[in-house]
Amino acid sequence: MHANFFTGNPLDRVSALRDDAAVMLALRDDPSSRFLPVWRDQHLMRHDALRVAMPSREALIAELGPIEAHPSVLLGLRDERALFALDLSKLEEPQTQGIKLGHFEPLRPLAPLLPTDEAAILAQARGMLHWRRLNVFCGRCASRTNPEQGGSRLVCPNCGLQQFPRTDPVAIMLVHHEGRALLARGTRFPGRRLFSALAGFIEPGESAEEAVARETFEETGIRLARIDYHSSQPWPFPGSLMLGFLAEATGHALTLDPAEIAEAHWLTPTELRDPAHLDIELPGPIAIARSLIDAWLAAQ
Ligand SMILES: [Zn+2]
Repeated sequence: MHANFFTGNPLDRVSALRDDAAVMLALRDDPSSRFLPVWRDQHLMRHDALRVAMPSREALIAELGPIEAHPSVLLGLRDERALFALDLSKLEEPQTQGIKLGHFEPLRPLAPLLPTDEAAILAQARGMLHWRRLNVFCGRCASRTNPEQGGSRLVCPNCGLQQFPRTDPVAIMLVHHEGRALLARGTRFPGRRLFSALAGFIEPGESAEEAVARETFEETGIRLARIDYHSSQPWPFPGSLMLGFLAEATGHALTLDPAEIAEAHWLTPTELRDPAHLDIELPGPIAIARSLIDAWLAAQ
């Protein structure tokens, strides 16, 4: 099994304990519990090391006052100790800058430098808090929802609608044909020479393989002869699940969708192993696209 970055979360998610509201409150108030503060898209990092800060309740209260006003989600237990994500997004910037426990940093540039277990925990925390922020109000009747199960279920007190954490599935595929792989530069990052695998959201009523075939055809005009699943990856920008495939094309003639794809090329293994020579940038090691490229190269 291929282990992509952001996998390998060491926490026990204790699903069986979450229905017990008294246990959830006791864990939140336990002095040994730890909190992972998130401020908007940023994470609290320790001053003394490139590690995520996970202060105790007592340490947080000493700096911020009561923390009950900030939404929290039980992420799980590690060594009998509970870890909660704490959403401090309501704080204004001057308050976050004065925190002595650490400093807030965005995840994207930071992630490759973090221990993999901490990166996986951050991915969980971001996904959960993203979902919580989007569901403060009931999607059916617009009443304010109440958190249950340690914050991993939101229930409407008016109509009873229950909402559960969601993740958005994305198909990502390295398309190949007769010893060349297709890499594309999207229109979304015009300033960069970043070439990556094709990708797109899976739509309702569609299998992952059907999404691979549809997105590949829509973006490049390429039809597929064969689709092989490779691996998956939680992708916390903000809350996706990447499903990675290697896909064999029936031909190489490209018809690009100019709204999505600025440029696409069939590249040989030699070219992919020396991207600087072509003045292109390939996905970094934390991206599943990199795993797909490496898997294809290893088979050539
Ligand atoms: Zn409702």
